[in-house]
Amino acid sequence: MSGGREAYKDRDVVMKMTRLMAEGATMLAETCPVDGLPLFKLKSGDVVCPVHGKVWIVSSEAEAEEVEIDYVVRKIELHAARRAYQLINSDDTSELIQWLNVIETVERIRNLREARARSATEKQVEKAREEGGRK
Ligand SMILES: [Zn+2]
Repeated sequence: MSGGREAYKDRDVVMKMTRLMAEGATMLAETCPVDGLPLFKLKSGDVVCPVHGKVWIVSSEAEAEEVEIDYVVRKIELHAARRAYQLINSDDTSELIQWLNVIETVERIRNLREARARSATEKQVEKAREEGGRK
């Protein structure tokens, strides 16, 4: 059945690409660091992958890894939420707390990573401002 699932995924991706183009996004030569799909530049200037949403054109292996980690963390959260939902609908809720704990942990990881990314951006802006003022 995995073949059918792949086909579904491909159709989903093609639909998303088509929608992006219809919205006026332009396809770029750069590709997503995670899945190699072409990236799209939105009218707003944001660069997105049809699968991963907003991404940054990465210039290093380390940046590519950061994007991949964010993606994996989101996938873990989604999987846990789906499992929790399945359990709610079944009579066996013994595992429910485990999956809720996973969601809570993921939430914490995301907050930490976002805070770290924010402070990194602030430092860059500060640095640029200092360099600008020195001229
Ligand atoms: Zn992607």
